[in-house]
Formats: sequence, C-alpha cells, structure tokens
Amino acid sequence: MSLTQKILNGDRASLAKAITLTESNLEKHQEKAQKILLSCLPYTGKSIRIGVTGIPGAGKSTFIEALGKYLTNLNKKVAVLAIDPSSEINRGSILGDKTRMEELSKDNLAFIRPSPNKGSLGGVSKKTREAILLCEAAGYEIILIETVGVGQSETVVKSMVDFFLLLLISGAGDELQGIKKGIIEMADAIAINKSDGDNIKNAEKAKIEYQKALHLLPKNKNGWNTKITTCSALEKTNIENIWSIICEYEKWMKDRNLFLTIRQEQQKQWIHESIEDALKKQFYTRKGISEKLIQIEKKVIEGKITAYQASQELL
Ligand code: GDP
Repeated sequence: MSLTQKILNGDRASLAKAITLTESNLEKHQEKAQKILLSCLPYTGKSIRIGVTGIPGAGKSTFIEALGKYLTNLNKKVAVLAIDPSSEINRGSILGDKTRMEELSKDNLAFIRPSPNKGSLGGVSKKTREAILLCEAAGYEIILIETVGVGQSETVVKSMVDFFLLLLISGAGDELQGIKKGIIEMADAIAINKSDGDNIKNAEKAKIEYQKALHLLPKNKNGWNTKITTCSALEKTNIENIWSIICEYEKWMKDRNLFLTIRQEQQKQWIHESIEDALKKQFYTRKGISEKLIQIEKKVIEGKITAYQASQELL
C-alpha cells in the first residue's frame, strides 16, 4: 500500500512519516513529499483550523489537552501541531521540560506533532501548512496549532488558521504577556485562563477590562465581535463554552461566505511566500555568491558603495 493510501486510511505512523518528509531539506524527500501532498489534496480542507497562542506558562498545552479531550469525547478526531518543549523559545517556559499533553497523547482519536526545531518561529514553521493538509487527509476534523506569542509568530499563524484564540492570564500585565494592540485585534476570541480557586475574581475582573479595551478598538474586519471568556484548563471549566464560540464563529463566517474567501486569500499568500522563498534560495545557493557577498559587504562597510548599489550589483 502506498504511503498516501495509508495516510488516507488514517494511519498515524504514515502521517508522521509524511510530515517528516515535508520538513526535510533533501531534494529527494521534498519531491516525495510534494507527490504525497498532491495526491492528498482532494481530501483536504474539511477541518477547522484553530490557532492557540499565549506566553509560556499561560496554559496553552494544558488548555489544548483539555479542549482536545473534550472533543475526542465527542468522538471527533483532533490533530495538534504543538510546540516542541525543547525549542529555543519555549526554554524560557517555567515548566518547559514537563511531559506535555500526556493524556491526549494516549488518545486514539488524537495525533500530536511537535514542530520542527529548525526554522520554527514560536512553534510555526514554513512546513506547518503542509502538516495541516496532511492531517486533514488523514481525517482529522479539528486541527489545533499551538504557538508562543513572540509578536511575529501570531501573524504567521493567523495566515494559516480559521480561528485565532488568545490565551491570557490575569494579573500578569499586558506588557509581560507581550500583548501588543495588534494581537488583541487579531484574536477571534480571548480566554482568560486559570480562572479557578482564589483567582476567579481576578480573572473576571480582567475579562471586564479586556471587554472595555475591545470596545475602543475598530471592529474585526469580518464584522465578528471578538468574544471574551474566562476558563480553567486545569479544572476543565468553560472549555465547552469556548468550543461553542468556535462553532458559532464557523457558522457566522460560512453564512456570509467568508470562510472560504479567507482560506482562498491565505492560499494566495502561500503562493507568494513560496515564490519569495524559492527566489531567495536560488540567489543564495548560486555558485560563487558567498565569496562575492563577502567582497561586496566589505565595500559597503568601507563606505565605497551603498547597500542598494551592492544588492543591485549582486543581483
Ligand atoms: P504553556 O507554557 O502555555 O503551555 O503552559 P502550561 O500548559 O505548561 O501551563 C503552565 C503551568 O500553569 C502548569 O503548571 C499548569 O499546570 C498551570 N496551569 C495551566 N492551566 C491552568 C489553569 O487553568 N489553572 C491553574 N491553576 N493552573 C493552570
């Protein structure tokens, strides 16, 4: 049986193997990966793609495990493209070395894939889109993409998902959470996590504050009002509510023909990114270019030519 056929049959080992092929830098692996992707393409697109972002310690992996288990209990197949706990950015996490999503990883209806370490920006990489498609071909209905908020990574994730969830904690302060106005604007929903025990009051207060702040922002360009809720990933409260918000959003977007329109825009963006990548690769891997670069860098540093002139000369 071909690898593609095995993926379509839902075989997790084959799915993992295909994702590894897409992440490889070897030409022959890339060729194989592209062939598999092409034959999987007719079976993709049927999932809902959800981005989950927040600072290290906000509770992303605990939350994803809670939501994931909630969904597998509803008999849904869930794929998680997770942050590699050993990755550069996550090393700052308080508990970066603990076992992440232990329960979910044992679940037959779930597939968890850590992001590749190389070329990964806060958990997303150039290959995340390919991984999404392969998971869809393997029949996963919900794809959760975890990312650490590092400013740039949210924009990248936003360009690949249908729904963008921002996980916050109360009392950490906006600055500490790396929350720039733009990120709040990007969110389709905000969940104030760790609303349990003594912290419930603070979480509710934070919810009201964010609600006020959101009023001051321009409306989401799709007309959707960003929803704010509290939850406890640890005690698994309000997880169901967050899932309802996601379903409501999906319906809202589909009713207005926006769901597919946005996906089509994302695909167009992907083409341009691929072109840019290929052009860069062509340029930088050209024979003799590295020697020429060193020479020309020297000229610029010595003030003999401008950086623009240098680039024109090389190109
Ligand atoms: P991540 O770095 O964003 O993935 O955060 P983790 O999921 O690893 O959680 C960081 C810490 O916060 C862990 O000790 C979790 O047990 C704890 N935590 C996560 N969610 C909750 C919650 O809802 N309530 C409480 N009290 N603790 C939580």
